[in-house]
Amino acid sequence: MQQKVKCPYCGYEMPVWYDDKASKSKGIFIKCKGRKCKKEFEIKIN
Ligand SMILES: [Zn+2]
Repeated sequence: MQQKVKCPYCGYEMPVWYDDKASKSKGIFIKCKGRKCKKEFEIKIN
């Protein structure tokens, strides 16, 4: 499943792939691919 995630720091939009079943128990941390950002943040899936 693919979902677009917006970085809370810079607003950069990234397409993120994740496992539907695994994502419910815990959050996923990804690194922003923005040129000047590159911060890690948690994705919360509803
Ligand atoms: Zn960012």
